[in-house]
Amino acid sequence: MKSRGLYGRKFLDIQERITELAPIDEDHVLVKIHACGVCGTDVNFVRDWEEDYMPLGHEIAGEVIEVGKNVRSVKPGDKVIVEDCTMCGICVDCKSGHPELCRNMYDMQGQPGMGEYMSVRFNSLDRFEGLDYVSACLTEPLAVALTSVQLAEIPFGASVAILGNGPLGLMAARLARVRGASFVAITGLPKDNERERARFFAAEKIGCDLMIEVGKQSVEDELLSRFPKGIDRVIVSSPPESIYDALKVIRFGGIITFFGLHFGGKSTINVDINDLIFRKITLRPAFAEPAINFPVSMKLLREKVVDPELLITHTFSFGSALDVFRGIVEGSQPIVKAVMTPNA
Ligand SMILES: [Zn+2]
Ligand SMILES: [Zn+2]
Repeated sequence: MKSRGLYGRKFLDIQERITELAPIDEDHVLVKIHACGVCGTDVNFVRDWEEDYMPLGHEIAGEVIEVGKNVRSVKPGDKVIVEDCTMCGICVDCKSGHPELCRNMYDMQGQPGMGEYMSVRFNSLDRFEGLDYVSACLTEPLAVALTSVQLAEIPFGASVAILGNGPLGLMAARLARVRGASFVAITGLPKDNERERARFFAAEKIGCDLMIEVGKQSVEDELLSRFPKGIDRVIVSSPPESIYDALKVIRFGGIITFFGLHFGGKSTINVDINDLIFRKITLRPAFAEPAINFPVSMKLLREKVVDPELLITHTFSFGSALDVFRGIVEGSQPIVKAVMTPNA
């Protein structure tokens, strides 16, 4: 069986390829992809990635079409999320109740989520109901935001700053509030283009208390004028160099969680270890693989604890993929979250 999908590399070099899917053997399931979100990682690939083309898309919601003869967990017609990284369930860490430490994971075998079909192992699927496909594909990014918020251990009534107002930052802002924060600030690039205006508009709808335009305003001044002792928790969903701002505004004993990557050579920063020690600051990376937060993310979306409608601004298919990616990279379109519907 063949499937059409998208691959990309630096300078918006996006390729459409037809590939042969792995056979639907006894453990595999053929999934028809109905929705796949554009992640910041995909945008990083088409903006900065210099090596070979990367498959695009890992935020996937689809429909089961065919199952292998040993598969009992799903049946044709079921709505499913495809996990991008699945715990093995049999290693020492998984069996000890720590699947988050599993190093023996199942991945997507190089298949693009931005494609028509996938052949995946049955244990990489999460069944869902009560959500449309486009909303459901927020499961993966929401699980990432959720992981960062869980690791931030937000006390009731805390002040929280989210650095970065992309979809993940926006979801983290909402979850921080749900988790008991009494004040949530969010930062973003200046509202000089359509993309940034759309993101701040979404932040306002989500209920952020303060929005800071980085470059026009000083994150440090804006936050420390309100909280002279510093902010209780900082969640960094923007590139690694924003951790400098996080370190300036975090309170004594505070926790900074971070998951903003950079593939264009800007992933190294200088951190004064003495400062971390003397100020008792925790710098904690948040990496959401394997997919242990998917079931709770689906529930949060279904119950509208996080409202997909506040985030998803665009859907598109193959013909307009390049336009959408260009719009996101250049900021020329009011896109917060774009979702590909490859079979629409
Ligand atoms: Zn993602
Ligand atoms: Zn394992």
